[in-house]
Amino acid sequence: MTAGGKPLCPRCLLADVPGGAALAALNQAWIDALPPERRADDATFRARLAACRDCEHLASGTCGLCGCYVEYRASQKARRCPDVPARW
Ligand code: SF4
Repeated sequence: MTAGGKPLCPRCLLADVPGGAALAALNQAWIDALPPERRADDATFRARLAACRDCEHLASGTCGLCGCYVEYRASQKARRCPDVPARW
């Protein structure tokens, strides 16, 4: 699997993708910019990302169902996993 000539990294979050540090930092900046009332608590965030890491739809930090970077999606309290049934 490739994306734009770069190999996809199945089951990887952005922070784990080789060469993904810049995108991971951008995602973290987006998360840091969220108002506290819109952010998921840390335990929820970690549990969501654990589900994503175990999901066949995850590739290079991106959800194959919705196209979101999962770290950013999972950081938002009101967001849900797009799978049916939802995994978080
Ligand atoms: S389908 Fe859900 S669990 Fe799977 S990568 Fe997307 S958001 Fe994560």
